[in-house]
Amino acid sequence: MTWQLTFKVARYKPGEPPRTDTFQIELDPERTILDGVEKIWAEQDRTLTFRHACHHASCGSCAIMANDVEVLPCIVEVNQVTRNGGTIEVGPLHNFPVVSDLVVDMGTFFERMQQVGMPIIGPTDPLDNQPKDDFHAYENCIECGICLSACPVVATDPTYLGPAALAAAYRQYHNSDDSEEKQRIMNLVDRENGIWRCHVAYECTAACPSNVDPAGKIMGLRRQATVNRVRKLFGLKPA
Ligand code: SF4
Repeated sequence: MTWQLTFKVARYKPGEPPRTDTFQIELDPERTILDGVEKIWAEQDRTLTFRHACHHASCGSCAIMANDVEVLPCIVEVNQVTRNGGTIEVGPLHNFPVVSDLVVDMGTFFERMQQVGMPIIGPTDPLDNQPKDDFHAYENCIECGICLSACPVVATDPTYLGPAALAAAYRQYHNSDDSEEKQRIMNLVDRENGIWRCHVAYECTAACPSNVDPAGKIMGLRRQATVNRVRKLFGLKPA
């Protein structure tokens, strides 16, 4: 069984005005949105630009908007977002510069990670040396950028560190036994454009396809910052 579907695709090429192109395709309803995009590329328009790699939610590279929701189109079936004869609107993630069509420049994502000194996995961060139970909450991050696209604060404040970097900082803080390292991390995030800029919308947590719960991690850092301040009042070292 196949469905008749309309794909409305946001198009942008440098030097040209943005536009929306409409494509009619037939697709099995259990195929994914990415299958639909690839079918359009293969059969109707080879100039369509999109990013993809693993096809199973491991790499995060294909993240886009579908019917105004951030998704990994490689794991969302068309029957989850429309019906037979329905329309699927696809476009690039929000809050990132568009390079071409569905492809955004992820540079600001990694710049934010760098600001808190968090490589995704670095030489000082070997898997075998991370026994704390929250380790996987961060390592689940597939660097898709969806949380930054969904975040209403990132939309208005480009200096905000953002959910993914703060979730990384949380994990690094709680997995470090080095008090100087902990203080360094806290100094980086306990500031106006860090943990205190979040408006607690929890859009990042709702959108994250990898259960990182970035908003929960930001709240955890806030609690820790507050505890550290109270301890300081009583002449105690940070916890
Ligand atoms: S925290 Fe979640 S939404 Fe944000 S980049 Fe990592 S996997 Fe994607």
